[in-house]
Amino acid sequence: MKILVAVKRVVDANVKVGVKSDQSGVDIANVKMSINPFDEIAVEEAVRLKERGVATEVIAVSVGVAQAQETLRTALAIGADRAILVESNEPVEPLAVAKILKTLVDREQPQLVILGKQAIDDDSNQTGQMLAALAGLPQATFASSVTIAGGRATVSREVDGGAEALSLKLPAVVTTDLRLNEPRYVTLPNIMKAKKKPLVTMKPEDLGVDVTPRLKTLKVSEPPRRTAGVKVPDVGSLVAKLRNEAKVL
Ligand code: AMP
Repeated sequence: MKILVAVKRVVDANVKVGVKSDQSGVDIANVKMSINPFDEIAVEEAVRLKERGVATEVIAVSVGVAQAQETLRTALAIGADRAILVESNEPVEPLAVAKILKTLVDREQPQLVILGKQAIDDDSNQTGQMLAALAGLPQATFASSVTIAGGRATVSREVDGGAEALSLKLPAVVTTDLRLNEPRYVTLPNIMKAKKKPLVTMKPEDLGVDVTPRLKTLKVSEPPRRTAGVKVPDVGSLVAKLRNEAKVL
């Protein structure tokens, strides 16, 4: 069974980003970029399924600039077998990414497609859902455990007040939540091995997908600065302030 995993190159989770002076977006010039954390979890899960003998091949896919090759090499170092970069110099919106992934699903015929629940740059939380709809596949989002048996995936999802268990007929789309697994530490020998694994590059046009943006960003702004707090001497003055100034009591 083949598994297709989608990995996005995003600003590293530890970087504190700022807004560009013209408010057209977030300034990502010269900042550290990494694999989207939820996608690292997705690759880890696929590789574990391969190590358990459930999957036979793990294919990592990324849509983005040429440097997304580094992200794919990370996926290969975790243990993916080969990689596909669909190269675009312009940002590609979730719908277009989902359309690209759909064409690759048609070509590769994976039994399982694993994506992150969201990309931490745009926080869209849309791509997996749209891919499932476009490909006509069942979906389980925010997976905290995945078991494959008898042509079905059993997925546990954390919901308010408990866990929901879903059974899906394969092929299916699963998106990862934080607690699904803890990705392994990538070792130097595996980084070296990853350099030799196959990575093919294509363009959205080669897949017949139009990636022209449909959304227009009007403005990106910093959150309002928090004003300084005040210290109150006792509970009485706190209650008075809450009642008379904040008017919440
Ligand atoms: P989003 O819907 O943008 O929050 O992204 C959800 C998931 O879709 C991510 O965690 C990735 O697995 C996948 N994804 C989104 N954009 C891309 C991209 N440009 N390349 C590869 N995978 C992507």
